[in-house]
Amino acid sequence: MDILYTVRANAPSDHRARFSVDLEHVASPAVDLVLPSWVPGSYVIMNYVRGFRDLAARREPEGAPLRTERIDKARWRIHTDGAASVHVDYTVYGHQLVTEGFDLTEEHLFVNAALCLPYVDGHLLEPADVALEFPADWKVITELEEVAHAPPRYRARNYDELVDSPIDIGRPVVLTIHPGGIPHRISLCGEGGNYDARALERDIAKVVEASVALVGESPLSRYTFFYHLTDVPDGGLEHATSTSCVVTRTTFQPAESYRYFLGLTAHEYLHLYNVKRIRPKVLGPFDYTRENYTRQLWWMEGTTDYFTYLVLRRSGLLTVEQFLKQRAKLVKTYLETPGRNRISLEESSLVSWVDRYQPFEETPNQSVSYYLKGDLVSMCLDLEIRHRTEARASLETVLRLLWKEYGKPGRGLDEDELLPVVNRATGIDLTSFFERYVRGTEEIDLAAHALHAGLVLAPKAKRPDEADDPEPGDLGVAVEDSGGLARVRHSYAGRPAQAAGLTPGDEVIAINGGKVTFSGFEKALERLPPGTPVELTVFRRGFLHQVSMTTGPPPARKYAFTPMDSPSELARKVYESWVGAPWTPARPDP
Ligand SMILES: [Zn+2]
Repeated sequence: MDILYTVRANAPSDHRARFSVDLEHVASPAVDLVLPSWVPGSYVIMNYVRGFRDLAARREPEGAPLRTERIDKARWRIHTDGAASVHVDYTVYGHQLVTEGFDLTEEHLFVNAALCLPYVDGHLLEPADVALEFPADWKVITELEEVAHAPPRYRARNYDELVDSPIDIGRPVVLTIHPGGIPHRISLCGEGGNYDARALERDIAKVVEASVALVGESPLSRYTFFYHLTDVPDGGLEHATSTSCVVTRTTFQPAESYRYFLGLTAHEYLHLYNVKRIRPKVLGPFDYTRENYTRQLWWMEGTTDYFTYLVLRRSGLLTVEQFLKQRAKLVKTYLETPGRNRISLEESSLVSWVDRYQPFEETPNQSVSYYLKGDLVSMCLDLEIRHRTEARASLETVLRLLWKEYGKPGRGLDEDELLPVVNRATGIDLTSFFERYVRGTEEIDLAAHALHAGLVLAPKAKRPDEADDPEPGDLGVAVEDSGGLARVRHSYAGRPAQAAGLTPGDEVIAINGGKVTFSGFEKALERLPPGTPVELTVFRRGFLHQVSMTTGPPPARKYAFTPMDSPSELARKVYESWVGAPWTPARPDP
């Protein structure tokens, strides 16, 4: 069957784009058009279909109407009545600038096919063409192959490639760099970005070069970084030959914010290897109608995050101190997650569909992000490998073998195939490590693994000038602003508030009889050192309650990785191979 989609971006004022699908060589009494319920890379079922309206089918563009039926929320059946050519028109409302966006404004049309181009059921593996109609002063940015035609047409080899190839039409600023001789476009769409174009070109080239060096080769002939600049950031979505990122227009300065941007860029770029080519077998071809389960997302996301910061370190975009500081921040977040050992990395990968993308009040107590824990477990695995092989192998060795045996030949990984590859790549047996920390929920000893690299991981001591800083008492809650009141969002397991019965949803209006608001909540705790009895007055489901407790000791303010005084020869070797710099004596940062 020949499949041609036409996308019209001519009248953006109502954010409703007009589409058509032309099918040729139809040979069945009915064809079903189906819109995906999820987009690869974002493992959650969504109702993208809610903006669809006005669907009508004809025998050829100007022919007699054909009967259509809506079968379920995302499936339409067209009764062809013997027609070999079928033309379908519909409209979709698109006004959401997110990574898997469909957004039509005066500024651009951004298309992820899964949100507006329904597939023809039974024909997912066949090529599809896309024709684009748009204002004369707009231009098209996409990695889809252009085929000779006027107006322009683009071709996807199959529906997966179509969904994997965003199309942006508008007036973006496009910079082109050639790291390793391969053209990479940096497309910046949106007003008011505070970026320095030369710095972007230089630093993204460094990210590309260090990523390719990590794996050893690049499968690309070209690549596009799509950046949409707006006020509400949404992160990034990986594709095989591009990435779609939605960032704040002011993310490029100051330096720390810019490092976050470069981290996002490196993470999404590394996905061209890890998850897009080194992938679980179930992730492609996809079933777009339902959850596609895998236990390997911790590796696909958490390990990608771990490599992200190694890439920034190797490329010189992070100093050794900045790298270790970033690691220490993760440690703090991780150790303050009460649910970190209530679910294994494999199980949290599997239930991403309900866990990761739909967090609720109990999430921190019963779960942990497979990005966060996956990153730290990958770090420990890397240090374990470097320690046991005297730095002859590392997690990088594993990545390179995965690339050679799976990514490059395009072979998906079976669910239990990761550990055998790790063992083969390193020449050591890591079964017990996987049983305990990947399949199991044993507390991982981060400090013991840090010692492999001659680093002491511990809470950071106060500096002399901080000695008088108040030590606030801890209740163990996170509060949010509820019309100026402090409403309990999370009550953390094992901390004073939960033991005393303070509950998510409670609005705290007084502490020890004194009025408290959301903005004054943290300040009020500073006056209650650990061990202070407190009486909270709260509205619970609209009725007044009193809750008594005693403040506990606060969690560590910060952690730090500090070089040991006299590390072993092996620890120095592990450190140097890991951070990519010679061992330097302890120099705690001020
Ligand atoms: Zn990712």
